[in-house]
Amino acid sequence: MKNITFTMLKPDSVSKGNIGKIIDKIIQDGFEIVAMKYTRLSIEDASEFYSIHSERPFFGDLISYMTGGPIVAAVLKKENAVEDFRKLIGSTNPLEAEKGTIRNLFADSISENAIHGSDSDENAIIESSFLFEKDEMFQ
Ligand code: UDP
Ligand code: MG
Repeated sequence: MKNITFTMLKPDSVSKGNIGKIIDKIIQDGFEIVAMKYTRLSIEDASEFYSIHSERPFFGDLISYMTGGPIVAAVLKKENAVEDFRKLIGSTNPLEAEKGTIRNLFADSISENAIHGSDSDENAIIESSFLFEKDEMFQ
């Protein structure tokens, strides 16, 4: 059965002109687009989205970075979507990301690391509903 994952092409990917290249890799890897949106996170949205990291030392910088410019948010569908997408994006730290992964190719640092991917089926649903209404998703 196919399931979904949620992604954001982070502000560094947008400002560096990498939207097209990254979306192309995602589609070439077999993901279908269920929903997609070019938007900008408010400080409130970003803080809620990353609330699990609110006690971490990097939280303030993370919120500034994620709200510093527009993003592309999307819901993606594939067999084994969450795990396969985490493989496609690579490790959080681009220096540790496998060759050919999105973070290996397009990320500058552990903080400005090009792209988000959900870490579980449950979070994929929570994160998708955070940015998309039901009638904006085409399953
Ligand atoms: N992050 C950071 N410094 C760190 C760890 C994480 O700035 O030491 C940022 C980075 O943008 C990362 C996000 O916080 O993508 C969420 O962290 P998480 O550990 O959930 O990594 P991910 O799931 O994005 O790989
Ligand atoms: Mg995470």
